[in-house]
Amino acid sequence: MKQQLLSSPVFQMAVEQFERVADFLELDEEIRERTKWPKRIISFSMPVRLDNGKIEVFTGHRVQHHLSRGPVKGGLRFHPHVDVGEVGALAMWMNWKCALMELPFGGGKGGITCNPREMSQGELERLTRRFASEIAPFIGPEIDVMAPDIGTNEQTMAWILDVYSTQKGHLVPSVITGKPVALQGSKGRTEATGHGVAFLASRALSKIGANPQEANAVIQGFGNVGFYAAKTLHSYGVRISGVSDITGAIWSDEGLDPDEVQKHVKNTGGVKGFKGSQPVDPELLLIQECDILIPAALERVIHKDNAPLLKCKILAEGANGPTTPEADLIIEKRNDIFLIPDILCNAGGVTVSYFEWVQNLQRFSWSRHEVLSKLETRLQKAFDKVLNFAKYRKCSHRIAALSLGIKEVADVKQQRGLFP
Ligand code: GLU
Repeated sequence: MKQQLLSSPVFQMAVEQFERVADFLELDEEIRERTKWPKRIISFSMPVRLDNGKIEVFTGHRVQHHLSRGPVKGGLRFHPHVDVGEVGALAMWMNWKCALMELPFGGGKGGITCNPREMSQGELERLTRRFASEIAPFIGPEIDVMAPDIGTNEQTMAWILDVYSTQKGHLVPSVITGKPVALQGSKGRTEATGHGVAFLASRALSKIGANPQEANAVIQGFGNVGFYAAKTLHSYGVRISGVSDITGAIWSDEGLDPDEVQKHVKNTGGVKGFKGSQPVDPELLLIQECDILIPAALERVIHKDNAPLLKCKILAEGANGPTTPEADLIIEKRNDIFLIPDILCNAGGVTVSYFEWVQNLQRFSWSRHEVLSKLETRLQKAFDKVLNFAKYRKCSHRIAALSLGIKEVADVKQQRGLFP
């Protein structure tokens, strides 16, 4: 298992971050090893009938990074680049994220190697149902609670809920989060991650003494996280200067209206060609001058070559793992960028997933206003915790956030002791 995970550059990156923090915290060797490796990796081959009549065998994985603090929690990703190492890294980050946010969960992540952009609804439904029936013995409200991630959405969650509930013989809403509100999903869950990113970016603006009405933002990735981050920032008066997705990058000096861009995406499949915008090279978009830069797509887009060229004041990591450890060192040295690290910045999603799970267990539901204000309270608390830790321990925001998460997990492992 260790070799398989370590063959992936994304997993190597998560381990490198972990080791750096473990050194910083002076974790002893035994607890370090126990904390580092995931509890379980489950891999599946899933034959699915395509619309053309042929059968394709897809591969999927679920990594459960510790059940010591509660059920594992985390998304399910559909993407062509998915491999077990990436899923393992994402599960590890979920673990530190849940601990930092004081949620009673471990970290989990799932992924299926496929290209949802090229699949029909019918094919996606058959693949999801097949995956759900394969994974059903390994999940449950007290074991593993999945949620959406890149390439999946509330419909995907509804299919999984349907398969699981059909097997059990009754509806089990608490087995999954990010499901439609009509199926006992939480109000505010769809926008939670992006809303959280924007909320924390606005906190960071006030820390550096900038005014949202005079600030601008650049967003890489215009999926669920990028769109809602843009929409919420726009509502605060921040100008959205540039956005990008798989089809290209666009720019407007006057500012883009996120809802209008979203309409264009729905009609044409991407942001490219949006009326009144200029095209930009997606690589160059990341190094445009801006107050807030939000990477909101995949891992490792900020690396040693572009980190010295960044011209943002705030780097708000909507994606998981967008900055490599080498780039981190460069950003720390530069000392002119206010970093909101991923496990804090994008924690709005999993926090509202936690609220959803709690509402399901209580057979109760909260209003959107209640959900978002509870979310902001939690994010503000975690933000303050990270900033205080960084100040007193004289370290970067990344090291502070990871230290708080990792220490929590390591302490629980120590307290529970070794079985048998
Ligand atoms: N996929 C999201 C994340 O990376 C949300 C996970 C969840 O809601 O469980 O944080």
